[in-house]
Amino acid sequence: MFRGPGPRGLNELKWGSFDGHLLALATRQGANVRRARVEEVRWDHGRPIVRARGCAAVAYDLLVVASGVNSVTQSVLQALPIAYRPPQTTKTLIREYYLGEDTVNRVLGTSMHVFMLDLPRLEFAAIIPKGDYASVCLLGEEIDGALIRAFFESPQVKACFPPAVSLEQAACQCQPRINIAGALQPFGDRIVFIGDSGVTRLYKDGIGAAYRTAKAAATTVVFEGIGARDFQRRYLPACQAINRDNRMGKLIFCFTQQIQHRSIARSAVLRMTRREQQRGGSAQRMSMVLWDMFTGSAPYSEILGRMLHPAFWLRLASDVILSALGRPQPEDGGVGTAGGIRTASESITGRGELGRVYQPGDILIRQGEMSDEMFVIQEGQVALVQEQGGQEVFLGVRGAGEFLGVSAIFEKQEQTATVRALTLVRLLTVDKENFMKRVHQDPAMAYRLFQHMSRRVRELNQQVKALNQELDRVSEGRRGDKDAAEPDSGGNSKSK
Ligand SMILES: Cc1cc2nc3c(=O)[nH]c(=O)nc-3n(C[C@H](O)[C@H](O)[C@H](O)COP(=O)(O)OP(=O)(O)OC[C@H]3O[C@@H](n4cnc5c(N)ncnc54)[C@H](O)[C@@H]3O)c2cc1C
Repeated sequence: MFRGPGPRGLNELKWGSFDGHLLALATRQGANVRRARVEEVRWDHGRPIVRARGCAAVAYDLLVVASGVNSVTQSVLQALPIAYRPPQTTKTLIREYYLGEDTVNRVLGTSMHVFMLDLPRLEFAAIIPKGDYASVCLLGEEIDGALIRAFFESPQVKACFPPAVSLEQAACQCQPRINIAGALQPFGDRIVFIGDSGVTRLYKDGIGAAYRTAKAAATTVVFEGIGARDFQRRYLPACQAINRDNRMGKLIFCFTQQIQHRSIARSAVLRMTRREQQRGGSAQRMSMVLWDMFTGSAPYSEILGRMLHPAFWLRLASDVILSALGRPQPEDGGVGTAGGIRTASESITGRGELGRVYQPGDILIRQGEMSDEMFVIQEGQVALVQEQGGQEVFLGVRGAGEFLGVSAIFEKQEQTATVRALTLVRLLTVDKENFMKRVHQDPAMAYRLFQHMSRRVRELNQQVKALNQELDRVSEGRRGDKDAAEPDSGGNSKSK
């Protein structure tokens, strides 16, 4: 989705903006929003004084700076009596192409297309479908005109656009900056820097990092205080943890750069991923590494740990040999495309697993099977049927974003219904261990699940109520029939 309402020149507003959504949430929680540019910050009697354009200066108890790295605000803050030094940044590229929703669906589908191209300084390149638009994102070291041209001229990128589209004529383009190294001492007495203006994750998950630093700052303020020492004790470790993880991220990006420079290695990565996607199952080592690298859904330390597993290297080595021998790639199982890596769209669990694809009519889950996993429908529709007394009873249809078999996560149990694909379906399997890990990282996931369970309980209650009413009607009908069949006191039958 778009941060703001959408690209420049947008004709039709189809969705609200992401930032607008967050601001509305904050306002509902009691935040007092003032839409004005902060032009001056100074200290008076130990308290921060803030003056915004067109407003009187106001003294605050605590100043939380969340100014990002794409404004001149840093200069407003330079005169402050603190040791803060802004983060190091680099230039990126975002380009939006208007293709229309039908074309976007046809050429890109619902997948994010990630490229491993041998272009120096390019760390990450992706084309992301967003409604009517295809959004191109390039991250790396000082993305400049030459690198942008080389990217758009590569055949793998051209293959992702209809031939009629001129890649020179984007609907809009900008070159915002992102952090590549965190700020120095992002706090002081009565001041704390969160999000990009403090510390963020390397190349990925900036919004997640902004949330985490904001939370760490809020926890410090509530449980420790608002002095520099309080932030040092409680806020700094949270920033240091992100910085430490970024160092591992840099190692991983060095490794992927090496792969990108070597065609045999690139081909081996593609081969390994394709095979995993065809086979499904839990040991999707390369798929998970790529997914988490490109989406930022796991810490870099965890990804590095997985990359150091001997089984990962054994598999990769054998695929390098096969690629060197020129053996043909396995059939496209839905991840490889034109030399790039096409990963599945982000799952609703946010964990980033690549779901398994089923054809219409396939059985996804069988009634009676024991299971300790839950399932998330990522794409498509399924029918739920239950065998009752030798007959198949249709229970309903479920679609993308819905959970199945949730209670199995808490207790191993028998599947109560058979689930059959009605369309092409992508299904994600989440076991207890992954679920717990995910809830630990993202407590909102547990909330979403409880929401789902509470909706199911409400639906079941309604079904029970409807069933009781039906039973009452049937028994009343029977009583009526019985009364009608009985002769009245005068010896006449009530029925005519
Ligand atoms: C090309 C690109 C792609 C990205 N893709 C992703 C992605 O897919 N997922 C992800 O998680 N992250 C992504 N990020 C990173 C993410 O956007 C940032 O990490 C995140 O937005 C940081 O949030 P923030 O609140 O710290 O700063 P920002 O989002 O930059 O917000 C700062 C706000 O402060 C306002 N401001 C600045 N100065 C003043 C002032 N003086 N007075 C008043 N207001 C002011 C600005 O107008 C702005 O609204 C991407 C970044 C870039 C550049």
